[in-house]
Order: sequence, then C-alpha cells, then structure tokens
Amino acid sequence: MTLALLGGAPARSRPFPAASTIAEEEQREVLEVLRSGLLSGFAARADGEFYGGPKVLALEAAFRDRFGVRHAVAFNSATSALHACVAAAGIDPGDEVVCAPYSMSASATCVLMQQGTPVFADIEPDTFCLDPAMVERAITPRTKAIIPVNLFGQPAALDRIMEIGQRRRLIVIEDNAQAPGARFGSRDAGTIGHLGVFSLNRHKTIQCGEGGVAVTDDPRLARRLQLVRNHGEAVAEGLGWAEDADLVGYNYRMTELQAAVGLAQLGKLDRLNAHQVEICGYLTKRLHGCDLLVPPAVREGCTHVYYLFAMTMKPDVLGASRAALLDALAAEGIPAQGGYVKPLYRLPLFQRRARASACSVTDTLYEERLVTTKVCRYPSTLADMDDIVRAVEKIGERRRDLAEYERARLAGASALSSPQAR
Ligand SMILES: *Cc1c(COP(=O)(O)O)cnc(C)c1O
Repeated sequence: MTLALLGGAPARSRPFPAASTIAEEEQREVLEVLRSGLLSGFAARADGEFYGGPKVLALEAAFRDRFGVRHAVAFNSATSALHACVAAAGIDPGDEVVCAPYSMSASATCVLMQQGTPVFADIEPDTFCLDPAMVERAITPRTKAIIPVNLFGQPAALDRIMEIGQRRRLIVIEDNAQAPGARFGSRDAGTIGHLGVFSLNRHKTIQCGEGGVAVTDDPRLARRLQLVRNHGEAVAEGLGWAEDADLVGYNYRMTELQAAVGLAQLGKLDRLNAHQVEICGYLTKRLHGCDLLVPPAVREGCTHVYYLFAMTMKPDVLGASRAALLDALAAEGIPAQGGYVKPLYRLPLFQRRARASACSVTDTLYEERLVTTKVCRYPSTLADMDDIVRAVEKIGERRRDLAEYERARLAGASALSSPQAR
C-alpha cells in the first residue's frame, strides 16, 4: 500500500464525525429561564441577591453533589474563576506562584492579574503535568501557592504536590478545566487542592458557551471567591465579612441562561466520560503494538478522561521528523497536531513578567515529540479509532518511503535556497 502522501489511497476518506451535546434538555432549561424573565439573579447587595439567581444556585448545588465538595461558586469563565482563586488565596504583588508551563495561558495569567509572579517548573515526560521534584526546586521564600494543571484529562501528581504544599504551607489551586470527572484514587480531580477550577467553555467536555466553577471545602475561601465574583468591596461589611473587605470585585457573575445550560450539561458528564474512556482506552490498547507513537500513559490509580489524545513519537524509530509524520497522517485522513500550545515561558508576556527554570522536557515535547489529536472524542466510535490504527500501521510499514520523501524534500528546499538557484 502506497502512502497517501505519495499518491496512494488514504486510510480514511470521510471526515471524523462532529455532533453537539446541546439538545432538548438544554433547550427546556433555557426556555424556563426566558419565560421567567430573570436572566440574572445577581445584585451587589448584602442580601440573598448577592449569591445569584435560582439556576446559578442550582448549578452550584449540582456541582457540590456531583463532586462531594462543601462549596461551589459559579463564574462567567474558568479564567475568571482562576483569578478569583488566586485573589482568594491572598496572592499580593511580588508573591510567587509555581505554574505549569505547558497549558492554556490562563493557568498562569491568573497570577499576573494579582500582580504576582508565575514561576514555571518543568513537567513529567509521560503525563505532561507538573513534575513534583521540579516544583520543589522552584519554591523560594516568596512562594505562596502552586497551580497544578490536570492536563489533557488526567490528574497531576496531586498527592505529592499536596504533600509539598502542606510541608511548605502553600495553597494548592487545581486547574481542572480539562479533567472534569477524572479520578485520583478514590477522589475526583479538582477536589484535592485547597481550591479547584472547572471550565464550561465551548471546547470542554461539558459546556454552556462560556462559564466556570470553583470548588473548595474551606468556607472562608468560598466567601472570598464570592466577593471577587460580585462587587465584594460594596457589600463585605454589610455581610459581616469585614476581614475580607479589602478584596476587589470584578463582576465575574454567571447569567441564569449559562447556569441553566450548565445544569443540563452536568447531567451528561459521566456518560460523555464513559464514552471517552471506552474509545481512547481501545485506541491505547491497539497502539501498544506499534513502535512509532506511544499512546498516553495513565497515572497509577487514576482515571484519564481524554480531553485530548496526546501521544509521543520516537523520531529515531521513524527515521523522519514529526512534521513529516503529521503530513503523512493528514494525507491518510487523520488530523493531528504537533505539540499543544507554545510553552508559556516563550510568550513575550511571560518572558517579561515570569520566571522559569530550564524546562527541557517541555521544550522537547513541544519541538519534537508530542502529537495530539482531537478526533478521539464524542461522537467518534471504535470504528473511527480503527481507522487511526490503520493509518499509523501503514505509515509504520512504509517508514522508509516517508524518510526518503522527507530527505528529498529537504534536499529540494536547500537547492532552492542555494545562491545558484536564485
Ligand atoms: C480552557 C482552559 C482554561 C480557561 O477556561 P475558560 O473557561 O475558557 O476561561 C483554563 N485552563 C485550562 C487548562 C483550560 O484548558
């Protein structure tokens, strides 16, 4: 079989399926809100309206029930919720917070929003989450908190990070935007840190367009979150919370419409995760026989809910670069991406305002080894996973052709850029 890149028939010719999880339940919930006329229940007043309307309260109650936490506070995004957590944790200008370098930017901009300094520590090569040994090394007398990210759908090394946090008296804020429903031992990811943040943006497992929820078991942290979410400065004294009257409120309030959709979506979380675990567990098993791409490792005692399917490649085994592999996969009908985001310490903002130790694991994953794909998600099926395996096996068998193709292309490119050719 000829590689599709070289003119052969592709392993897959149909696009991967797409489907929205927004259906009748969400419509019913939203119509109920529209008919009530109350699109937001919030007011900056020291009474019941400080806490929001019935759907926001119902969404928070549903999060408390589902995740077994004492407090849940809904926000208009996870970015807002992360900022509120950093403010609630009492981060002041100059305080340092150990952050994950390979994540969505909000995992670290939340520290800048309080004029703190993000300090990036390197990640584990197999789970891509913060490496506890590197976290320990990044801590200084100015460190106040750690923000582990449960990346791609699986928990960070939360037991060891909590142990470091307790020993060094640091607050741990879990960024659980990508791993709702993942388990760390007998507990839910997002509920192990002092604070945890979930996202309901349109790309996440469950969504309401834009939205976020912060959870905690600590009543003081919970009320500080509520003060930041609303106009806390105006009402803290009236609520009898004078000791927290120094917090700035940002109006990060969630509307009733968002909360209504979030409520219907939360009811679908376990079913969507079960689907992810089934198809991604299957793909992982089938890829174990192949030597080109290493499927995601699952931390012992944890469950992974596969927000993204993140593999690492072995360039020495393939004999070609990741770019060539991605071209070959795309030609076979399998969309995949090299790496994830740019490491945060390479962004101009963080170069000016953050510190980073050497992050060689992150650099290598970003530049050469990580391959991610979004097609391993609902509504893809086991048969769709078989097509991925077929494509990978075909490229594996034809790796010499791919290496040859890349050599020829590179030679062509250098001939073009040589002085004679110009
Ligand atoms: C999506 C995401 C966020 C931000 O979520 P929003 O709700 O869009 O603000 C934060 N951290 C991580 C890891 C994310 O994936």
